Amino acid sequence: MAKVLAIANQKGGVAKTTTCINLAASLVATRRRVLLIDLDPQGNATTGSGVDKLSLEHSVYDVLTGDCSFAEAMQFSEHGGYQLLPANRDLTAAEVVLLDKSGKEHRLREALAPIRENYDYILIDCPPSLSMLTINALAAADGVIIPMQCEYYALEGLSDLVNSIQRIGKALNPSLQIEGLLRTMYDPRVSLTNEVSDQLQAHFGDKLYETVIPRNVRLAEAPSHGMPALVYDKQSKGAQAYLALASELSRRQRQAARGTRA
Ligand code: ADP
Ligand code: MG
Repeated sequence: MAKVLAIANQKGGVAKTTTCINLAASLVATRRRVLLIDLDPQGNATTGSGVDKLSLEHSVYDVLTGDCSFAEAMQFSEHGGYQLLPANRDLTAAEVVLLDKSGKEHRLREALAPIRENYDYILIDCPPSLSMLTINALAAADGVIIPMQCEYYALEGLSDLVNSIQRIGKALNPSLQIEGLLRTMYDPRVSLTNEVSDQLQAHFGDKLYETVIPRNVRLAEAPSHGMPALVYDKQSKGAQAYLALASELSRRQRQAARGTRA
């Protein structure tokens, strides 16, 4: 049964989409079956996966509104090796259209139920807001990965985000966990980075991933070629960091499984 992970942060530009694409490809490289769901109307995860968002016959929008099946909307990322439920600007209307639908917060969860067993991981790329789309992602997920940059304002936004996740979890999805915090665009030469990093460690302890994602131009270049960094430049520091993150994720999952059996 797939582990469903929402990649969320209400801030834009913190590497949610970059993390989705590169973690998905890295999990595939370790022989996991992966589905990436683009839940952002900007469709960056779709483009970055090598799928043309302007020529989609169906998208995640039609799945949420019940106008098509998962199979009809599904695409394959050739370079990434994962399946993709794509998005484009149509998704902007979901906010309004879903208001009239019953169980509007659980549309994604319900759509995922019959296909969860086909995957090891389902990653959801959230928009930069706590909108109905993000609420659907949090209602459908087992865990949340929070990518963040180690800057002063990140800490301020972080407590709001954690509170919101806990509130939404309590109301809609009591087993929702904060899976982990991921430091992105990391530059240890900046002293504030280290300070913020220490504070995160003190506050979040082992929820903070050991793996850090360095600032690396290959990660920024790869999406314009519709590729994960792993294919664009396998030896790059960025590609290697996301491979390390995929290993850390698997290791933690094995440890958690041993913990519940013990
Ligand atoms: P979000 O989805 O949170 O808005 P993105 O993944 O789109 O963030 O990243 C924002 C910008 O930063 C993009 O231009 C992306 O290519 C770039 N970027 C993300 N991670 C890195 C990194 N580790 N090094 C360099 N550039 C990065
Ligand atoms: Mg994004």
